[in-house]
Amino acid sequence: MSNIETNLIEIRKELDNISKEIEIVAATKTRSIEEIKECINTGLVNVAGENKVQEFTSKYDESIVWDYIGSLQTNKVKYLVGKVRLIQSVDRIELAEKINNECIKKNVKQKILIEVNSGKEEQKSGVFLEDIDSIIDQFSKLDRLEICGLMAVAPIADKDTLEPLFTSVYEKFIKLKNNTFKYLSMGMTDDYLIAAKCGSNMVRIGRKIFGERNYNI
Ligand SMILES: *Cc1c(COP(=O)(O)O)cnc(C)c1O
Repeated sequence: MSNIETNLIEIRKELDNISKEIEIVAATKTRSIEEIKECINTGLVNVAGENKVQEFTSKYDESIVWDYIGSLQTNKVKYLVGKVRLIQSVDRIELAEKINNECIKKNVKQKILIEVNSGKEEQKSGVFLEDIDSIIDQFSKLDRLEICGLMAVAPIADKDTLEPLFTSVYEKFIKLKNNTFKYLSMGMTDDYLIAAKCGSNMVRIGRKIFGERNYNI
């Protein structure tokens, strides 16, 4: 068995102990298309999440379901719309409008998540929890968008700091949850078990699946 499969079996088992309803999105930045296919072929992961548009475009393969999970400039929206299941990182009205316009051009709809800045970190993108209602109000006027939930990238912190942050996002999510608004994407290699225990139903995992890597190189 390959490392990728061994790692995924372990992650799946840990998550199943918390809930069987938690989806694993593989965070595939810097990983090759062969590694991504190996991951999907285990049957334990259905979606690859990329966080840079150029990298997504160079790897794009119709046989794989992709999500976009990274920060996004409005001029790059055209490379994603219609090609990804979810744009998970929509955090401002200009971006939502641009996605909506691109959808009209292509005559498609696009599912999105709203990115939350749960830790209120200044250098990070994302909407503060108290502004979610007004953002949803604004996004709702854009009829090509399907708002499917929330996505959060937590700060690097210990369990005692993360738990209340994840819980606050979960509580907001639960208030808004319905048949369409159904994804709560939070949790990465360092914190996915904490996030899962706090109610996440989608974790985005890279290093724990593919092996450690310093992404800054
Ligand atoms: C890279 C990345 C992840 C996964 O990070 P790991 O620590 O490798 O699990 C999750 N979400 C986003 C937005 C990412 O860019």
